[in-house]
Amino acid sequence: MLEVTGLEAWYGQAQALHGVSVRVGEGEVVSLAGRNGAGKTTLVRCLIGLHRQVRGTVRFLDRDVTRTPAHQRARAGMGWVQDDRGIYASLTVEENLLLPPRVSDRAWTMERVYEAFPVLAIRRRAPGTTLSGGEQQMLAIARALRTGARLLLMDEPSEGLAPVVVARIGEIIREVKAAGAGVLLIEQNVKFAATVADRHYLLSQGRIVETLDNSEFRRREGELL
Ligand code: ATP
Repeated sequence: MLEVTGLEAWYGQAQALHGVSVRVGEGEVVSLAGRNGAGKTTLVRCLIGLHRQVRGTVRFLDRDVTRTPAHQRARAGMGWVQDDRGIYASLTVEENLLLPPRVSDRAWTMERVYEAFPVLAIRRRAPGTTLSGGEQQMLAIARALRTGARLLLMDEPSEGLAPVVVARIGEIIREVKAAGAGVLLIEQNVKFAATVADRHYLLSQGRIVETLDNSEFRRREGELL
């Protein structure tokens, strides 16, 4: 469903991505690992249409979207769970969940969200500002699920969270996969990536330096980053 070929990205004269090619199939969870500054966030921003200084091709659901504006990519079914979570602090949990537009018939109902994330049901009237890191991350993921996105781009969803919350996020990713959506998981936590992803790309200095299946990734887990 996502096919990226020879992607190059620049910040002014400085090139951040050098010919990156990655693909994510339907019902596939793919991780992208790499150290700080490797280019992970730049790649996600290129995919969703927030970084426009690019060359190469991004195809999504058999359409070339390389020059397609971000809002149209979102409407076509690209969902983004951003690393800073992007919660609207002045809105309640429920208002944050009601905001996203529905883009497909896979969109999760409020009932389903509250069943999957009981903590959000308990905190439904709480303002976004008062949520813990784990609650914010749950809300960010739930908001993407509310749209019915066909592809979820998740930027460091496990960062800074307690193991029990990380495990819950893993369960949700498996549920999304079982429903046939694709997931591109940006993740420096290789242990977590190994528990949820089918395949892994390793990004270094703007280049994909390794593509590994999950058994190989597990074998080399300790030496990868
Ligand atoms: P992190 O895990 O720290 O977020 P990352 O793998 O996501 O790192 P990027 O943030 O994509 O890496 O950065 C890739 C390269 O692009 C780095 O060399 C970085 O210095 C550069 N870069 C990122 N943002 C900008 C910017 N706004 N202007 C100039 N250079 C930038």
